[in-house]
Amino acid sequence: MIFLTIEKARLREFLDAVSNEFRLIVPEKKGKSTYIFKEYTDFSRVALEFLRTIIPPKRFFFPPCETLLSYSEREGLTAVTEDIPFTVIFGVHPCDLHGVNILDRAFSYGGRDSFYWSRRERIGFIGLSCLPDRYCLCKSMHTDFIEDVYDLFLYTLDNVYMVSVRTAFGDDLTRLKSALFKSPTKKEILEYKRRIKERDSMFTRIMDITNLADLLTLEYKSEVWEEYSRSCLYCGSCVMVCPTCQCFDVYDTTDLTEGISYRIRRWDACMRKDYALVAGGHNFREDRPSRFRFRYLHKEIGFAEMHGRPTCTGCGRCSETCPAGIDMVEVVRRIRE
Ligand code: SF4
Ligand code: SF4
Repeated sequence: MIFLTIEKARLREFLDAVSNEFRLIVPEKKGKSTYIFKEYTDFSRVALEFLRTIIPPKRFFFPPCETLLSYSEREGLTAVTEDIPFTVIFGVHPCDLHGVNILDRAFSYGGRDSFYWSRRERIGFIGLSCLPDRYCLCKSMHTDFIEDVYDLFLYTLDNVYMVSVRTAFGDDLTRLKSALFKSPTKKEILEYKRRIKERDSMFTRIMDITNLADLLTLEYKSEVWEEYSRSCLYCGSCVMVCPTCQCFDVYDTTDLTEGISYRIRRWDACMRKDYALVAGGHNFREDRPSRFRFRYLHKEIGFAEMHGRPTCTGCGRCSETCPAGIDMVEVVRRIRE
C-alpha cells in the first residue's frame, strides 16, 4: 500500500479521466436529503459530503432483478450473459465496502455464484471517508475502517485528499493522471492523524455486541420479539436497503407471444410472509414474531457461524428507513436488558 495526495480542486480532472476509460458510478443528491449511486455525467453533480445512499452499491453486482436462464424450442436452454462494462464506483464509505466483502463471502460459499461474480469481477472501488451521524453504528460493528476490497481510498483533509493506493488497479487509476498525485507532506500526515482521532470521538451511537449471539440464542423466546412484531409493518424496507442482505427468490415465467421461458432471480425479504412458504403449503415462519426475530438471528448468528463475523456493517440504513421507527440498537438494548 502507498499513500499519495491529490488537491481537492483537481478531483474533477481525475474523475473525468476515470470516466473516459471506464463506466464511472458516483453518489448524487436526489431530493432534499437523499442520495443515490448514478452514472457520472458532470462533476458538479457529484455529492462529496453525503453520508449514505438509499440503496447500497450492491445493486451494481447483485441487481434487484436479473434473468439467469432462457429456454425456447429453437435455442434450448441458454444461460443469459450480459456484456458488462468495467465499472468504477466512486465514493463508497467503509461500511459499504465491508458490505461488499460480506457479499463476496456469501456468494462464494459452497461454490462461486457465476452470475454475481461475472459482475463483481468487473468492478473497482474508490472509497471515500465520512463523518458519522446519529444513525451510524459502524464503530460498534468494527467496520469504521476498511483495509481491503477498495482499490483507492480518499481521506478528506482541508485542501487535499490523502489517497491510499491498495491494489495494482488502484495504481493504474492514479497513472491515468499521474501529474495530479504527490507524496504527502509531513503537515498532511499530521492532519490525517488528527482527523482520524477527531472522527473517532464523533460517534454517539453505540451498540454493545459483546456476547450478542449468546444473548439472542438465550432470549429466543423473549417477549421483545412479540412486542416489536406488533409495530413492524413487514414492508421489507430494512432488508431492501441493507448492504449485506442477500436473499433472493428464483421463479420461472413464460412469454407466450415469443415462446420463450425465463428463469428470474430477484431480491427477497425474510420479513415477507411467503418467504418461508414451501411446497405443500407449510410455512416455517408463519407468525409475525418469528419473522421479526429471524432477521436478527441471521444477521448476528447464522452468518457469523459460517464466516466468523456478523453481517451488520452498522450503516444505519435500516433504522433511518423504517416507517415504524424500529431501531436495531434499541431492539438489541431491550434484548440485552
Ligand atoms: S422497515 Fe421497519 S416496518 Fe418495515 S419490515 Fe423492517 S422493521 Fe418492519
Ligand atoms: S442491518 Fe441495518 S445497520 Fe446493519 S448493515 Fe443492514 S441496514 Fe445497515
